[in-house]
Amino acid sequence: MKTGIVFHELYLWHHTGNHADYVPYGFPVEPLHHSESPDTKRRIKNLMEVSGLYEKLFQIKPRKATKEEILMFHTENHFEHIKSLNKSISVNAGISAPTGIGSFDIALLSTGGVIEAIDSVVDGKVDNAYALVRPPGHHAMPDKAMGFCIFGNAAIAGKYALKNKDLSKIAFVDWDVHHGNGTQAAFYEDPNALTISIHQDRNFPTNSGLMEENGEGKGSGYNINIPLPPGSGVGAYESAFDRVIIPALEVYKPELIIIPSGFDGGAGDPIGRQMLTSEGFRSLTKKMMAVAEDVCNGRILMTHEGGYSAATVPFFAHAVIETMAQENLGIEDPFQKIIGNLGQQELQPHQDKLIKEAESLIKNIK
Ligand SMILES: [Zn+2]
Repeated sequence: MKTGIVFHELYLWHHTGNHADYVPYGFPVEPLHHSESPDTKRRIKNLMEVSGLYEKLFQIKPRKATKEEILMFHTENHFEHIKSLNKSISVNAGISAPTGIGSFDIALLSTGGVIEAIDSVVDGKVDNAYALVRPPGHHAMPDKAMGFCIFGNAAIAGKYALKNKDLSKIAFVDWDVHHGNGTQAAFYEDPNALTISIHQDRNFPTNSGLMEENGEGKGSGYNINIPLPPGSGVGAYESAFDRVIIPALEVYKPELIIIPSGFDGGAGDPIGRQMLTSEGFRSLTKKMMAVAEDVCNGRILMTHEGGYSAATVPFFAHAVIETMAQENLGIEDPFQKIIGNLGQQELQPHQDKLIKEAESLIKNIK
């Protein structure tokens, strides 16, 4: 397998300032660090380097997205607002979306990296690709930055693919623990994109990502949310993929699958309450590769989103990317034997009930 990787040192220079997790500091909150720090991303890259995986991947060089590309999803006001903050130290650019000096330029480089990955996958330069970009994108809305996201990387890449790559149907499978609200908004009335998000029920944004949100107008039926209860483990995720996500993709038959990939569904994430493991992520990756092989020649692009446990996330990401590349570097995840044996890793009755409800949404897809 030829697997592409997008990375740039400047992704780590986007500075989210002093917070305590995602809460701004100031009495009585002592300054600490922001959840969305460079650490997880740096450690993913470092683990891939020391394991030997990184040198087996095809380097896709990022570039800055153009204003025209950003405006495929965002308003001009939003673009100009972020641009105007480019020399500001530590400001909140929207709803919980801290930026620092140069963040506008780095956000353009993040979106542009994902666009370059679309070109590589669709043009057949690589079989699949992982865009290890930062800042993330799936919460950004047309008119505002939100949830650590500045520009909607995956949404813009999807718009770009439909417009410039002669594709008529694409699908998104967002497995970040939070709802992919921005990507949903981008295609809510568009039947040319099937947007699926599997996330923790009403984590972020609050009261978003409900099962009743199915799309509108011509896009009616083409948005699926699977809001798993907190505490869901590998069994619940595998079941949702087998019973809802894969059958939906088989009916829809997209020409490209984009996976906004967050690792905050992993056990122990500071801002997620699910229990995925590196073997769980590996299993979900295999399932997505198998269905992609069936429907779209294996074309998968993953765009990096959340994941905030700097200790565990590198192992989750390594398992996913080495699976995409069909490599085995022999890296043993020391967390697997502990979190893999947590109670209720297998499908629970209340999770089964929720997944059964979601199964009924497949019939709305043509
Ligand atoms: Zn997330």
